Amino acid sequence: MDKDRKLSKLKNTMLKFNKNFPGKNLVFSDGNKDAKVMIVGEAPGRTEDKLQKPFVGRAGKLLDSLLESINLDRTKVYITNVVNYRPDKNRKPTPKEINIFKKLLFKHIEIISPKCILLLGATAATAVLNHIGPLSEIRGKWKNLKIVNSYFDIITTFHPAFLFRQSNKIKFVIQDIKSLKKKI
Ligand code: URA
Repeated sequence: MDKDRKLSKLKNTMLKFNKNFPGKNLVFSDGNKDAKVMIVGEAPGRTEDKLQKPFVGRAGKLLDSLLESINLDRTKVYITNVVNYRPDKNRKPTPKEINIFKKLLFKHIEIISPKCILLLGATAATAVLNHIGPLSEIRGKWKNLKIVNSYFDIITTFHPAFLFRQSNKIKFVIQDIKSLKKKI
């Protein structure tokens, strides 16, 4: 089965979870399915739900400018989230939701098969690396991890939305994405 068919099968599986998020749209992905870099966020917000695309709101604009600073854009990366529906009232996804969507995310990673993965924030780090504890313990550190049947180089950084609250952390994110650029 080719990539497009695998992705559309995965999308159909995710659509079945719509009943758990009444009135919400599936926010599957954006970007280039053949990109070397796959970016994983937490879950869609209001704008993402409306436009059915990840990272198109305020945090997304910041993500775009961070990518631009290393000469990347959405034609060169593939973007998705751990949870592909907007949790009610912008709450964080629950551990149960993360667990359900984690299996689908791993399938998604297997299909895209990127050279590297950039995890944005604690939810993505918990889902992919099983990390619990402060993000500062693992950010900027490369891990090589087996997901399904293949190994992937994975780096974690702070979520762009977090930078609105703690702008002094932006220097670390710049450091991390430069490291990503070097890797590819
Ligand atoms: N925050 C996320 O984690 N993902 C989005 O798509 C938008 C905001």
